[in-house]
Amino acid sequence: MKTALVTGGSRGIGRAICQELHKMGYRVLINYVSNDAAAQECLQSIEGDGELLKFDVSQPEAVQEAIGQWQQAHPEDYIEVLVNNAGIRKDSLLIWMEPEDWRKVLDTNLNAWYYTTRAVLQPMLLHKYGRVINVASLSGIKGLPGQTNYSAAKGGMIAATKALSQEVARKNVTVNAVAPGFIKTDMVEGLDEAALKKDIPAARFGEPKEVAAVVGFLASEAASYVTGEVISINGGLYT
Ligand code: NAP
Repeated sequence: MKTALVTGGSRGIGRAICQELHKMGYRVLINYVSNDAAAQECLQSIEGDGELLKFDVSQPEAVQEAIGQWQQAHPEDYIEVLVNNAGIRKDSLLIWMEPEDWRKVLDTNLNAWYYTTRAVLQPMLLHKYGRVINVASLSGIKGLPGQTNYSAAKGGMIAATKALSQEVARKNVTVNAVAPGFIKTDMVEGLDEAALKKDIPAARFGEPKEVAAVVGFLASEAASYVTGEVISINGGLYT
C-alpha cells in the first residue's frame, strides 16, 4: 500500500481527508497533537489501515524525529502524499494581538509547512513522484479582519506553494493548495453561522468531505498536470 501523511488528520477537515485517501487505497499516517480519543476514532473510521503519528507540527525536532523514525521503520516505503492540514486560529484585532498569538499561529500554520514538507520531499524527488497539498484558507487570499496572524500564515503558505511547485515539477512532484471558506468543524465553533451564511452565495457552511473531495483529486494521478494552483472551496463566497 502507498502511504500518505495528513497533518492534523484526527478531526474536522483532516479526518475527512484521511477517509478520502483511504478510499483511494492509501495507508494513512494520521498526525495530531493532543486529542488521543479523536485520533483513535479516525483510525477506526479507516478500518485501521493507518498509523497514528502524534507530534507537534510547530516543533521542528519533533517533526524530524517522528518522520525520520517512521522512514527508518519502513525503508522500502515513502510518503507519497503529504497533506499539510494542521492549523489553529487565535483571532483578535491587531491592536490587541499578543506576540504569543502571532507567533503560535505563524508557527503552527506556516513554519510547520516548512518542517513537514522538507522532511518528506527528498524521497518524493528520488522516486520521481509525489503530491504536496496544502490546506490554506479564504483568509490567506482575501485577508480577513481580526485574522492578521492567520491571513499572513495562510497567505505565506500559498506563496510557498507556488514557489515550491516550480522547484519540483520536473520530478513529477506537484504542489497545490486548497482554500476553504467556512467549513463545519470545531474550528468554527462559536462563529455566528446564521449571520455569516447570509454572505455565502450557497447559503450554508461547507462540509469537511467537500474539501476532502478536492484534496483527493489533487492527490490523484489524474491531477498530474495541475501544480502551483490554489483551489477555492467556499460556496461562492469569494470570486
Ligand atoms: P479542527 O477541527 O480544529 O482540527 C484541527 C486538527 O489539527 C486536529 O486534528 C488537531 O489535533 C490538529 N492540530 C492542531 N494543532 C496541531 C499541532 N501543533 N500539531 C499537530 N496537529 C495539530 O480544524 P479544521 O477546521 O478541520 O481545520 C483544518 C485546516 O483547515 C486548518 O489548517 C485550518 O486553518 C483550515 N481551514 C479551516 C476552515 C474552517 O472553516 N474550518 C476554513 C479554512 C481553512 P488535536 O485533535 O490533537 O488537537
